[in-house]
Amino acid sequence: MRNAILQELHAEYEQQRAENERQNALRRAEAVRACPEIELLLNARQEMIFASLRGILGGQVTADDLPQRMEVMNRQLASLLNRHGFAEDYLEPVFRCKRCEDTGYVGEPVREQCECLRTAFFTRLYQRVGLGEQAQQSFERFDLSIFSDEKLPGKTYSQRELMEMLRQQCAAWAEQYPCADVPNLLLMGQSGLGKTYLMHAMAKVLLQRGVHVMMISAYQFLETARKAYFSGKQEEMDTLIEADVLMIDDMGSEPLMENITIVQWFNLINERQLRGKATVISTNLMEDELRRRYTERIASRLLDRTQCRLLQFLGDDVRRRKA
Ligand SMILES: [Zn+2]
Repeated sequence: MRNAILQELHAEYEQQRAENERQNALRRAEAVRACPEIELLLNARQEMIFASLRGILGGQVTADDLPQRMEVMNRQLASLLNRHGFAEDYLEPVFRCKRCEDTGYVGEPVREQCECLRTAFFTRLYQRVGLGEQAQQSFERFDLSIFSDEKLPGKTYSQRELMEMLRQQCAAWAEQYPCADVPNLLLMGQSGLGKTYLMHAMAKVLLQRGVHVMMISAYQFLETARKAYFSGKQEEMDTLIEADVLMIDDMGSEPLMENITIVQWFNLINERQLRGKATVISTNLMEDELRRRYTERIASRLLDRTQCRLLQFLGDDVRRRKA
């Protein structure tokens, strides 16, 4: 996926450079139409550069006043442009990104990706793995102040303290993967407690570390599984089974379809465990509800403490608190 995105971007940058050339030619034609003298000046400047290059290549001593002569010509050009109502830099080459001049790369002799290419790459990567608009959600931006600092009922800590601890655990897991102490995480608790946010933040860290991550809602998962079941085409399911880290949001919100839901969940979890893949699941259901809905066979795998850490979210719905 990463290579495909990079190839797409390289092609787009090439297109951009062709478009720049076109823009430059249009501007030049427009300026020359307004003032033919500009063309003479541009040609003379070009000829001066070529002559100097020929001199260098031919091993001749060149006039070292080239910069000064260029400067004079540039000033003449600027004033002509100005007089005809153009900006002074109207004939400077046009680039979308001045830093890399739309090549996507900067630096000599070590070539590295320009900021513009890196940003475009990750934006697209986030979209492809299902992170899309949530890409700005990160551990750094996670706002603990929206959680209550009053002690939770029957607990010695507040919701805010709990969330700080959960944030640390999620961040550590994403940093340590694949060497974290357990391969799987189960984020459990009612909606509006920050589970999905932390999942997105984990996905972001993993993607930046180069891990192959997929994100999907339980509803989308079931749709994919259902289609595969009826069409016999396994490709999309294979993508989910083979992702190094699969994140499934909101287990329990998908419809319970006879002969499909339970079987497909079991297959997915089982296949991924056999392959040693990591799975992160969030759910609004409690442990006994998971057992009831998904049978003991699935629940026991999800709740196996040697394989999975259970992160229990507690407290008030922050969206309701904010309202
Ligand atoms: Zn750039």
